Amino acid sequence: MMPSIPETTPYSPLSVLIIGGGLSGIAIAHELVAIEKSHVDAHNRMIRWHLLESQNYIGGRIKNDNITKQIDVGGAWIWPSQQKMHKLIRDLKLTTICQDEEDDGRVRIQGGASRVIESIVARLNDQCITLSATVIKCVKMENAIQATFVTGLSTPPQEHVVYTERIVCTAPPRLSLPPRIKWNPPLSSAKMMAQKQTNTWMAPVTKVVFLYDNKHWDVSWLRDMKRRIYFYRNGLVFDLYDSCFEEVDGCNFYAFTVFALVDWSDQNNTRDLRESDERLASVIINQLLSIVPSQSSSCWMRQYSSHCVHHWSQVQSLSDDPHPEFVGAHPHPNQTLSQPEWKSASGNNMVYFAGTESDLSSPGLMEGAVGSAHRVIEELKESWLP
Ligand SMILES: Cc1cc2nc3c(=O)[nH]c(=O)nc-3n(C[C@H](O)[C@H](O)[C@H](O)COP(=O)(O)OP(=O)(O)OC[C@H]3O[C@@H](n4cnc5c(N)ncnc54)[C@H](O)[C@@H]3O)c2cc1C
Repeated sequence: MMPSIPETTPYSPLSVLIIGGGLSGIAIAHELVAIEKSHVDAHNRMIRWHLLESQNYIGGRIKNDNITKQIDVGGAWIWPSQQKMHKLIRDLKLTTICQDEEDDGRVRIQGGASRVIESIVARLNDQCITLSATVIKCVKMENAIQATFVTGLSTPPQEHVVYTERIVCTAPPRLSLPPRIKWNPPLSSAKMMAQKQTNTWMAPVTKVVFLYDNKHWDVSWLRDMKRRIYFYRNGLVFDLYDSCFEEVDGCNFYAFTVFALVDWSDQNNTRDLRESDERLASVIINQLLSIVPSQSSSCWMRQYSSHCVHHWSQVQSLSDDPHPEFVGAHPHPNQTLSQPEWKSASGNNMVYFAGTESDLSSPGLMEGAVGSAHRVIEELKESWLP
């Protein structure tokens, strides 16, 4: 199927082009649609928005496993203080599950955080979303921006051009820099410096989900294992949690998920771990077995019915480091990341920045993805939206 490409000219541009279809990009589209329903823009035209997403799915760092399609392999937890996420969950009529082994009140979404994405996308016009479309260049013109993007996997990839009055960039900061996206004229040096210094939170991590026919563990086993993993930190795994859930029809799935940092350097003969999910799963189970209090009572660990591996470091549109050695520091609020760039001839901002790392309260987290979307909508209201 041909991707939907918006028809635009410099004299008939989009109102907004959103770069990136993670939670932040899709939350902005959601708010634009809500505003459009009750108003038209300042020039009495409908809001013409379009979203371009590099990957072949919407969600970015939010994604479910490929077996049950209900377990998170990306962002999962929401903490009690995260009011924007809790409100979104309530508005979308989703339910949450307590993460019982943790004592800080965190929850995850029944059916995975992807349910948030699916529920929002169901409210949008899918003609306004193009998947497998990577923005590579943005050029400022007098009153519009010319954005070039490539689609498909053909070599050389097919190039397309779209004209837009303004851009909201939600791609992670380092992936918004040249050579990934070339900006002409260049973004301010303060902005580029801040982007360069900002890790894409959790992009180095591999999540591995283990599924079982029965629940062999309880809260105290999980708590004990977490303590032991932390104490004996000598392998790939650095955390673990219960990812069981109950399906709507009452069928239960029994699973736990581990966070791992897989060695992608060629120095340590670890190629088989990268190339074979089976081998990686078995090495992880051996690591867990080496630290359980009583091996005999945990022989069920090898009896998993299936497993799912997701290496975030290998996702080109999210990770700038395919050979990660550390998870990296949690991003701190950075005002420069949030500031708009480029002015039109009429003095309005042309490029806005959302995406979780640009949030000034909860950068790195899903809460920050939604918070940055709200901030950009307020910024757009100051100059353009009703
Ligand atoms: C393993 C893991 C565990 C996590 N755990 C938690 C957790 O428990 N709780 C929590 O709150 N958060 C967690 N997070 C973080 C959370 O998932 C993110 O904060 C959130 O999903 C970010 O959303 P976003 O829209 O800001 O960015 P992203 O999801 O990164 O979306 C950016 C999008 O831009 C696209 N893109 C990039 N470049 C281009 C381009 N040039 N053209 C077009 N598209 C482009 C990307 O493909 C991507 O889809 C976790 C993340 C991971 C990976």
